[in-house]
Amino acid sequence: MSDINQDFKYLRVNLRKNGKIIAEDVFKRVHPASPKNIEEICVFCKSTSGLTREHVLPQWLFENNIDISMISRVNKQTQTYHKAIIPACSTCNNVALSNIEECIIKIIKKIESKENYTQDDLCNIISWLEILDYKLQVYECRRKYIKYGNSEYIQGWGEFSVAMLRHFFEMNPFKAYNFLRQSQNRVTVKRKYERIKSLLIFEPKTSGFNFFSLANEYIFISFPMFKIAIFYFLRKSHDSDREALNEAYKIMTKVLND
Ligand SMILES: [Zn+2]
Repeated sequence: MSDINQDFKYLRVNLRKNGKIIAEDVFKRVHPASPKNIEEICVFCKSTSGLTREHVLPQWLFENNIDISMISRVNKQTQTYHKAIIPACSTCNNVALSNIEECIIKIIKKIESKENYTQDDLCNIISWLEILDYKLQVYECRRKYIKYGNSEYIQGWGEFSVAMLRHFFEMNPFKAYNFLRQSQNRVTVKRKYERIKSLLIFEPKTSGFNFFSLANEYIFISFPMFKIAIFYFLRKSHDSDREALNEAYKIMTKVLND
């Protein structure tokens, strides 16, 4: 197994160099006026060769239970995690991202068994969550909007991506692009120490897999194989752990009881 720092560095350097082109490509692809069948590119390094289907959420998270689905909070469309994929080249997917996953599993195991874990371990979890947010945003930006809740199907809306529609009522379709760029920028930052206060790790009341997120705001994951749940504020900083915990608790209560 390679060094997780090298894998993060590899992704950081590529996104720093190609992030803008990749983000523009994501939006060009879903634009109604763009030609169909544009050649796919890796959303981490923009390579066009050796493309693979990278799962947005790693499969070990939902233990290969392909029936578990996620519901987009934008349009109430259901999509199984198993089918939520984005293009990534074999180097980014099978080398860098796979190695990172392996290390993250080890860190979470360490935390669960209350072994000593380091600040670096926590920083690595943060880097991993930021990549997860980026993948989710890429996926939402590429996915066509189909139907909003119980509303009537409006033909024209199918032309827009889910992520653009998220900001539809604000009349600001560029926000989705800016969010995607911000999420790339987070991945390109090496230092995470000052973000540790925004990462909350706790023992959930009920075990099992659970997941929800809000682009550019937060991610919640409860792991099926560990008695651990994590909540991370992607942007927000808090003055104290208690303040962060109180806010996370409010969000979790609202979303999980919805
Ligand atoms: Zn790649």
